Amino acid sequence: MTTTAPDVAETIEVRNPADGGVVGQVPNDSQETVVAKVKALREAQPAWEALGPKERRRWFLRLQEWVLDNSQHITDVLQSETGKSRVDASFEPVVSADLLNYWSKNAAKFLADKHPHPHGPLGLAKNLEITYRPYPVVGVITPWNFPFLNGVFDAIPALAAGASVLLKPSEVTPLSAVEFVRGWKEIGAPPVLEISTGYGATGAALVDTVDYVQFTGSTPTGRIIAQQCAARLVPYSLELGGKDPAIVLADADLDRAANGIAWGGFFNAGQVCISIERVYVEESVYDEFLTKLTKNVDELRMGQDDRSYRYDVGALATVTQRDIVQRHVEEAVAGGARIVTGGAPTGVGTFFAPTVLADVEQSMSCIQEETFGPTLPVVKVRDEQEAIALANDSRYGLSASVWTRDKQRGQRIARQLEAGAVNINDAFSNTFNFALPMGGWKESGIGARWGGPNGILKYCRQQAITTPRIPVQSKELIWYPYV
Ligand code: NAD
Repeated sequence: MTTTAPDVAETIEVRNPADGGVVGQVPNDSQETVVAKVKALREAQPAWEALGPKERRRWFLRLQEWVLDNSQHITDVLQSETGKSRVDASFEPVVSADLLNYWSKNAAKFLADKHPHPHGPLGLAKNLEITYRPYPVVGVITPWNFPFLNGVFDAIPALAAGASVLLKPSEVTPLSAVEFVRGWKEIGAPPVLEISTGYGATGAALVDTVDYVQFTGSTPTGRIIAQQCAARLVPYSLELGGKDPAIVLADADLDRAANGIAWGGFFNAGQVCISIERVYVEESVYDEFLTKLTKNVDELRMGQDDRSYRYDVGALATVTQRDIVQRHVEEAVAGGARIVTGGAPTGVGTFFAPTVLADVEQSMSCIQEETFGPTLPVVKVRDEQEAIALANDSRYGLSASVWTRDKQRGQRIARQLEAGAVNINDAFSNTFNFALPMGGWKESGIGARWGGPNGILKYCRQQAITTPRIPVQSKELIWYPYV
């Protein structure tokens, strides 16, 4: 979780965690400011809704152009506030542009009225329609791990639905989100996207004011927001933490598994909700897999040199995050696990060496708690059944992967795993396919999913409209009097 900080400060100082230097500051919005912004958004929303999906589309295409034109600047800002490597940071504007393309192409199709077949004698003489009307103001609260992309991920489908959006980014990394909203204003789009920077209290004020809450962040904060929404009877969806398992079977292509799992574990320094955080390997290939994985991890280059693409793994976003990673490693070692490579903070700032832990037990904190850092704990299992049981032994259920040459076996195992997505012989591929629903089971999330038709319809209220087909009589058969 993000550290708590004095909610009363008027501004928030943003620092580069790679070296501790101050890189900017943003306002700490008060409740009154949030209320005023929501009021303005509420006033602007009807005209935006009235434009219709096809007219709204052109603003997303213009924003896409703006993102591509400004991608180097966005990447600079991203790097400065997150400590990411250039490669990890440059991923965000590119995927954001792709995402704008997806919603530009699909929003109108998903929002189109539906005409279900009437049912039963009383319904037969009616035309039935279902329309999708947006919640007027959607509040989007985001974490620090993809500070540009997360805002785009959640705000664009809401805007495409015809809602207006108040975005509340993490206090750790607000500058990239400020750029996103600046882009929207710079292209001259209607005033239906606004930002409120601040700590948790600003987020709480937003939850108290908007009509729908889309939250991405930690499970404990999600729980608080769900309670607040329940008190107001306001709908919400929560994208929360994860502890994604990878199952490596004896018949897997071990080179592909070792490559894919290294990427799935260390991309963005392991700070991805769907990072691979636990690896279960069949005992007959355990040593061979470990050797291949370690070789890959040893080749990772760690650092954050502005604008250089030569590093794979950057710094962690906060000192708190680095301390969690260190605690998980130390507790594993104290419990009998072995550091195969890495295992300690390194250099200045919040760097933590990419780490592989072997001989890990299921009960250890590095298996039970979300780490959100550059570590891969590897557990030896007897067989497929034990791997499935241990993978499911978690309060999280975001995504998982299975590595086997037998595609049918992979499919069969996928259907036994308790996770919102399962990638067979792959890592992250569910996320890059925007047509798929993305979201967690168990404590990894609740509410409508991101991606595909649900990703936009969740921001809408369904409205059923009926019209008599042939209104020739002065009354219907079942109206009073019954004669
Ligand atoms: P966090 O829960 O500490 O903070 C997330 C956001 O909530 C921040 O903007 C914060 O200011 C705000 N917030 C804090 N308290 C609040 C309150 N009481 N009311 C309203 N808003 C409040 O999470 P974090 O540390 O920024 O992010 C890391 C977490 O995010 C990890 O657990 C990670 O797994 C999760 N995450 C999940 C997904 C997903 O899609 N499932 C994606 C990315 C990150």
